Amino acid sequence: MKAVALIDANNFYVSCERAFNPRLRGEPTVVLSNNDGCVVSRSNEAKQIGIRMAVPIFQVRSLIERHGVHVLSSNYELYGDLSSRMMNVLEEFSPEVERYSIDEAFVSLEAEDSAGLEKLGREIKARVYRYTGIPVSVGIGATKTLAKVAGFHAKTLPQLESVFDLTPASLQVPALRRTPIEEVWGVGYRWATKLKANGIRTAFDLREARDEWIRANMNVAGLRMAHELRGIRCHTLASIPQPRRAINSTRSFGKMVDSLDDLKAAVGTFVTRAAEKLRRERMLAGVITVFVLTDRYKLDDEQYSGSLTLQLAPMTNITTDIQTVALKALEAIYRKDLRYKKAGVMLGDLVPDYGLPQPLWETGKTEKMRELMAKVDRLNRRYGRETVQCGTFISDGKWQMQMNSRSPRYTTRWDELLKVTC
Ligand SMILES: [Mg+2]
Repeated sequence: MKAVALIDANNFYVSCERAFNPRLRGEPTVVLSNNDGCVVSRSNEAKQIGIRMAVPIFQVRSLIERHGVHVLSSNYELYGDLSSRMMNVLEEFSPEVERYSIDEAFVSLEAEDSAGLEKLGREIKARVYRYTGIPVSVGIGATKTLAKVAGFHAKTLPQLESVFDLTPASLQVPALRRTPIEEVWGVGYRWATKLKANGIRTAFDLREARDEWIRANMNVAGLRMAHELRGIRCHTLASIPQPRRAINSTRSFGKMVDSLDDLKAAVGTFVTRAAEKLRRERMLAGVITVFVLTDRYKLDDEQYSGSLTLQLAPMTNITTDIQTVALKALEAIYRKDLRYKKAGVMLGDLVPDYGLPQPLWETGKTEKMRELMAKVDRLNRRYGRETVQCGTFISDGKWQMQMNSRSPRYTTRWDELLKVTC
């Protein structure tokens, strides 16, 4: 018997923090977005006291003080690393794993019967927790859409203990009847409103709707949803990631930046990160776009946005080559006497860096640079990001993100390892 499981981490960012700081367990805890702006992850305790998702932090200051809520800056390096560890555990269970988001994956499962599927689900949950400290919910169904429905109930009904197998036919009608239409995968706010106005309030109602009605009132995507709810597979697992079409690296600055030197430091760092990604995915870039923006909320300031795209010829993934072109673009768009809030780079026209005939212009220097980049990547992987940096930039670093209460990057920096005192 074949099925699809949706594995979804519970309150992922908060759970990552708790994995290394058990004192946070059972305590109301929230994690903030870049520059400590809004709440992006909440523990159940924080949800219970009424902290809404995405609320700007200043709006809930008094709630936070009254309830002693722990407030943390985001630590994406830690979350990204724990995410890939979680995905690696899932790959032990199945050759088909689709990484759907940082904390969600679809996995194909096979077992004798439903009981076997549920047992596998419980094993997945236990092993992910044992290896990473991250609690997950597991929803199992005949299709991705049914797995999502199962995941919704696994999360919301405590008696299921985070694992719900929706393959037995006897469970499907009651479970779908208890699934609000807006919880069905792919039903956005607009469709939910329209469907409800037409008497379709639950997943069950959509499953039972006539195809002609769906085709006339929704579209082919709606028809697929209904079919998937009936157990007919329309969405396959995309276990092989699609090659990217562009790589971005961009950030809002912690403080406003006005000098060209500071912008150069920021853009140089963005290029470093983008080029690392490029090499990790074994790609070459053909163009680079650099952009800078002022703060559109500062109404008294003069507003400006500048961007320039330049060609990288020959196509390359060597950090210093890309930096040279990026800085040329930056100098062309930079305007003095302005205060900048954000900058970024985008690498485009990506092609694989293998299987191509060796270009005629490949000189001995290029080859040496490739070797050097491979060494830099290896050192940074081993000893932590930015151990070795390419290019020198003079800056006081005030463009760096504002992160007033970020936890240590326990798993990716030697000097931030967890310390245990007895
Ligand atoms: Mg989640």
